[in-house]
Amino acid sequence: MRISELLARDKITVSCEIFPPKKDGAFGRIFEVVDQINQLNVDFISVTYGAGGSTSKKTVEVASYIQNKHCKPALAHLTCCDSSKEEIQHRLEELKANGIENILALRGDRPENYSGGGSYTYAIDLIRDIKVQGDFCIGAACYPEGHVECEHKEDDIGFLKAKVDAGCDFLTTQMFFDNNIYYNFLYRVLAAGIHVPVIPGIMPVINSKQIKRSCELSGTALPPRFKAIADKFSDVPEAMQQAGIAYATEQIIDLVANGVKYFHIYTMNRPETAAKIMENLSCILR
Ligand code: FAD
Repeated sequence: MRISELLARDKITVSCEIFPPKKDGAFGRIFEVVDQINQLNVDFISVTYGAGGSTSKKTVEVASYIQNKHCKPALAHLTCCDSSKEEIQHRLEELKANGIENILALRGDRPENYSGGGSYTYAIDLIRDIKVQGDFCIGAACYPEGHVECEHKEDDIGFLKAKVDAGCDFLTTQMFFDNNIYYNFLYRVLAAGIHVPVIPGIMPVINSKQIKRSCELSGTALPPRFKAIADKFSDVPEAMQQAGIAYATEQIIDLVANGVKYFHIYTMNRPETAAKIMENLSCILR
């Protein structure tokens, strides 16, 4: 099923993200993760794509397992910054052959010594190719706090509008820890004439040190309320996990209370975390 159809229903759509582990030895466990997330009755599962080829082949394999073993819509991520047109064409054929209809089209993070010259410069180039080459439902990434490389938020929104006009059916946000940032972004997106669903990406923080680093890299702000929690509980993993789950749950309740009809959980391959959030929301999602 196409994700655009799921998002159009008069019902809350819940999705989870997983990533294929980099080490071959850990790969087998990803299928257990999928099995456990599948039991949570989420509406679709997305699978990240390792830029640089590290886990790129595995994305199709895991997405196929979700789609064909569990008959659950899979969203396969696909990055382009280090791929040739031929490689992308090959990947699209693989996805089609496995019955995968949904792609999150991304540029990917450029390597430090990037000097340009690849087949793809921005995600929009990939979106155009996917649109031409197959009948896929296409999603893209967006950044409520602006993408780190873009100096001006207005430019970022302008580029986002171009991505959507090139054929995007929906957008998924970078994590954020203050819902007002998302609501403000929705206003700016609408003002720019972007009318596709913008799925909020919620990150349950269970390791505060790791998240501080990834927020620094992605330019995601940590609000004082969140910082106080992280400072207090970061050295007690069970307490941090409980607080992180409560924080993510509250964010989702606020989104639903304000009429948002979809949310995406960055599970970090921890189905137990997603399970606790879903349990906290059991009556709310009914
Ligand atoms: P783009 O949309 O191409 O934008 C990149 C930058 O270029 C932005 O600053 C934008 O403003 C600017 N820009 C866009 N168009 C133009 C233009 N025409 N001229 C000048 N500047 C322009 N990474 C992975 O490697 N694998 C994954 O599976 C993955 N999944 C993700 C899922 C989500 C929901 C999100 C939010 C991010 C994900 N990422 C993933 C990270 C992503 O690849 C990086 O954030 C990357 O730096 C940008 O990708 P993009 O598709 O947003 O790029």
